[in-house]
Amino acid sequence: MGDYTLRCVAGGEILPEHYTLSCNKHVGLIRTEYAARQLIVRPELPGIFRYIDWLPVHGTLSTRARPITFHSQTLCREIGLPNLWVTFTGYYPERKCFVTTGSFKELEALPTIVRFAENGGGTMVIASAGNTGRAFAQMAAEFGTSVVIVVPESSTKNLWTVTEPKQPNMIKLITVHGDYTDAITVANRITEHQGYVPEGGAKNVARRDGMGTVLLDAAITIRRMPDHYFQAVGSGTGGIATWEAAMRLVADGRFGQNVPQLHLAQNLPFIPMVNAWKERRILLLERDMPDAEEAIAQVSAPVLTNRSPPYSIPGGVFEAMTYCGNDMYAIDNAKAADAGRLFSDAENGVDLDPAAAVATAALISAVNNGTVDPRDTILLNITGGGYVRVREDFDIFPIPIAETVNVDEMPEI
Ligand SMILES: *Cc1c(COP(=O)(O)O)cnc(C)c1O
Repeated sequence: MGDYTLRCVAGGEILPEHYTLSCNKHVGLIRTEYAARQLIVRPELPGIFRYIDWLPVHGTLSTRARPITFHSQTLCREIGLPNLWVTFTGYYPERKCFVTTGSFKELEALPTIVRFAENGGGTMVIASAGNTGRAFAQMAAEFGTSVVIVVPESSTKNLWTVTEPKQPNMIKLITVHGDYTDAITVANRITEHQGYVPEGGAKNVARRDGMGTVLLDAAITIRRMPDHYFQAVGSGTGGIATWEAAMRLVADGRFGQNVPQLHLAQNLPFIPMVNAWKERRILLLERDMPDAEEAIAQVSAPVLTNRSPPYSIPGGVFEAMTYCGNDMYAIDNAKAADAGRLFSDAENGVDLDPAAAVATAALISAVNNGTVDPRDTILLNITGGGYVRVREDFDIFPIPIAETVNVDEMPEI
């Protein structure tokens, strides 16, 4: 189970695994290749680990977290798509979805901490806009992984766990005066120190293959690959992960020969990948993200505001979009809020993460523009939601801030 090798996308060489994040000869992503060509689902394993054959881990952790795919009759009727499927990752007990940190970042965090422990361990350093930090903090609280989490000051309110940390000092929260990209800068500085290992972000195959379980769950549930996949993106890693999972499902042979078309959405006014995709492979700072700071301050979904997404690199978002086809969407806050309300009204009042509302709005606009045929099989990735219920059903433990720094400072670690 979980037998795999790592391959450099650009150069093709096989790489040794010691929590390897990149090839030292080529720029670009590395990718996992699994011994199991066909996916065997293992429902006896906890949560997401039912898909262990296609996760870069050998062991599992005790968890209920996994994506859940369902057919929402009300939503299908409201949007006018009989073959619309939702894959939900968040807290939604009526649909048996128990991801208590509320977002699909927990699908990334679970296999990551197993891969990390199986390949050397140490203190993991994570930069986050909020949701990633919360997911890894929860893992640290539950399983005792030592983590340093670096977030922009404005994200502090989103950093909590639903478990009292087993040991104190396992979670060190650093806040930065600045935005998500400034948090990345500070996190990178910390990882120059012995024993502090970068989590890796998009370069970490455990994160991508963890996110890839969304498509696996959908294909297993629907019994075929969807024709279209909708997701809101900040880094676009979910788009890359879906492309990779789709190629594995094609090779499996039982789910159809076509990968789904990708429909990736960003939140106006910060839409760098939407701008670049219209014109070219290279992301240009001034052209694609003018007045970035001001734009970032205005979006309703801060998790979608990455200023250095893995867009141009080999194996990145541009290649995923080129291979799979289709389009990127620019969604304003008002459209997102309307779409979020529509979803909530259709599904027991569950609240959506603002990013998931952006994805829902993109789907509605694709239907209105005739981009998708109403009979197509469509997958809407609801990447987060259910925060209101989490707060009702669990005690919330805010994570204390260890230190606040400027972007050019080094925290005491
Ligand atoms: C991180 C995040 C996204 C964006 O994911 P990427 O694929 O990394 O761009 C979307 N929705 C939610 C809820 C997230 O937390």
